[in-house]
Amino acid sequence: MAQITLSGVKKVYAGGVEAVKGVDLEIGDGEFVVFVGPSGCGKSTLLRMIAGLETISEGEIRIGDRVVNEVEPADRDIAMVFQNYALYPHMSVRQNLAYGLRNRRMARAEIDRRIADTAAILQITDFLERKPRALSGGQRQRVAMGRAIVRDPAAFLFDEPLSNLDAKLRLHMRAEIKQLHRRLSTTSVYVTHDQLEAMTLADRLVVLNGGRIEQVGKPLDLYRRP
Ligand code: ADP
Ligand code: ADP
Repeated sequence: MAQITLSGVKKVYAGGVEAVKGVDLEIGDGEFVVFVGPSGCGKSTLLRMIAGLETISEGEIRIGDRVVNEVEPADRDIAMVFQNYALYPHMSVRQNLAYGLRNRRMARAEIDRRIADTAAILQITDFLERKPRALSGGQRQRVAMGRAIVRDPAAFLFDEPLSNLDAKLRLHMRAEIKQLHRRLSTTSVYVTHDQLEAMTLADRLVVLNGGRIEQVGKPLDLYRRP
């Protein structure tokens, strides 16, 4: 678990688009923060910078005591969940879950233990030997979350993870993510353009507009305002 600190963070893309124009934010240890705002406001860029997937033009991002810009990708202790699952189609669910751990040269027994625990949490134990194409959308999304959980990271980063699911499944998975956070208390940053999703999930909402923070607060405090 870790605190995430953004100080004076800016992003200018090659070509001159200023996607993020100076963001200061402290995300508490174990907090669930949601970035919400219209398309193009910079949510995804900000999340990708926290993930270390995008260079930071100016400012600094810290996860725990590490400065993101200075840490090698392999040492980054965060896990990202995407909307397109990004599962390996030729691997079984078990192999998909194990993949990131093998890279870290973790012992076989420890890998097996973590997969069993993660599968139990997400109720995917019965599908471990199946390939992703033999799963439903919701099951795939659970496996994608499983890949994040199994690593036991300091933080989860979610990039619109539910936007490819149908309305009913989206509601269901939203509740599961909330439950999961109650259970694991892992620091989480979640990006969505869906206000209802944002309100339901967030301990604290960060409303972005034009690359800047427009409002920060607890969901009810923000939306109660006249
Ligand atoms: P959001 O996630 O809120 O929709 P993004 O972070 O994706 O917003 O985009 C913020 C701004 O940066 C937009 O104007 C977008 O067009 C621009 N942008 C995003 N990615 C790139 C890129 N790789 N190169 C240039 N401009 C980009
Ligand atoms: P869309 O059809 O809207 O692009 P999909 O979720 O079908 O959305 O696909 C998005 C991307 O994710 C594609 O590049 C696809 O290859 C990948 N993808 C989706 N599901 C899986 C899966 N189960 N295993 C591997 N890759 C997947």
